[in-house]
Amino acid sequence: MIRPFRLRLLLGLLAGLALSAQAPLLVRTGRLLDMRNGQVRMDQGLLVKEGRIAASGPWAQVAASAPKDAALLDLSGQFVLPGLIEAHTHVLLQGNRTAQDYADQILKESVSYRALRAAAAARSALMWGFTTMRDLGSEGAGYADVDLKKALEAGVMPGPRLFVAGKAFSATGTYPLQNYAWELDLPSGVRVVDGVEAIRVAVRDEVRRGVDWIKVYVDRGTRLDPDGRLRSLTNYRPEELRAFVEEAHHLGRRTSAHVKGWDGIDAALTAGFDTLEHADGFTDDLLDRAVRQGTFWCPTIYAGLWVAEGRPLGRKFAEILSAAFKKGLAKGVKVALGSDAGAFPWTENPAKELALMVERGMTPLQALQSATVVGADLLGRKDLGSLEPGACADLVALPEDPLKDITALQRLDTVMKGGVVVRRDSPARP
Ligand SMILES: [Zn+2]
Repeated sequence: MIRPFRLRLLLGLLAGLALSAQAPLLVRTGRLLDMRNGQVRMDQGLLVKEGRIAASGPWAQVAASAPKDAALLDLSGQFVLPGLIEAHTHVLLQGNRTAQDYADQILKESVSYRALRAAAAARSALMWGFTTMRDLGSEGAGYADVDLKKALEAGVMPGPRLFVAGKAFSATGTYPLQNYAWELDLPSGVRVVDGVEAIRVAVRDEVRRGVDWIKVYVDRGTRLDPDGRLRSLTNYRPEELRAFVEEAHHLGRRTSAHVKGWDGIDAALTAGFDTLEHADGFTDDLLDRAVRQGTFWCPTIYAGLWVAEGRPLGRKFAEILSAAFKKGLAKGVKVALGSDAGAFPWTENPAKELALMVERGMTPLQALQSATVVGADLLGRKDLGSLEPGACADLVALPEDPLKDITALQRLDTVMKGGVVVRRDSPARP
């Protein structure tokens, strides 16, 4: 017998949302989007077992092969696609426009208070359809991101699958908190490390503490050159940057570089970082190198606009980034959805980044791919970002067609993570 779906949702919520050894679930989808080729298939079925997709295909075929005790989730009026992947967030930040906003979080909020707020942010993100997030640095909250990931995996509360970076790295004198009285020994938003040998030890120590990614602030002090390029000061020497990448890769971890100006992007590409964050100052030569090296790019457009508000130079940077984005798209750089959520408040849905990418030239399908298959590739996880057999059963469903209007992604009906429905707005059918 097929059990009523509402009961299953309730049970899932009550049991901490981490039920994996549960009865199979049969999902009937109205329109199912194949992320690899953009095809929309009508009236498809998905069979979910142990949190993964066990079978997919035409509804009649999948339904016929389903076990008798399978529960039914009827999404036949809905447009269904894989759960979204956000590749650049900070759950432990709550939005900062100014240096003072940032300092207040570090100086006035304890790590435990920030972790509680992070748990709420993680829950919001999941309800918005982000079933996976790469969180790039705790910004002074130690390894609270490692603990949050652990709690989410244990089903203590609902939230995305997290990939975390712990403390990001920067060199002495390059990252806030700075410019306070010299006799004060203040906390930092990063782990300060200098010199090749110290860097190797520090990367090993981060990995020991449970991080998935090594994040490095590669440049600072962005300025606009008369030739129109964004230039910057690099924080490390080339051999230091190489040490981060070598040591991380040796330990099976990937590397992320915060870069803004030409000089930082050049240094990060030379060192072989796997992903570039922001990279407003991308020029043709650098974009060509990124394409050749297969480097991923998270342009973080929304955060750029957020911080730019009221600042003429910030506006200029945003225009430069838009132009670089269009060029990168034409050259085929691998762009992953990464909004830098946390740099803006968690009351804002990071899916707004998708609309900004479409405004700057992506097709809605390309934007959706950046939030699914490209994100999965960035993470090195073939079992995410798709609904093919073997994939994690993460999906979102919505009444409208996001290929026609990308902002429809901000109006979801259903979210499932690991085979457990965590959001269902429309009433169950009789
Ligand atoms: Zn960031």
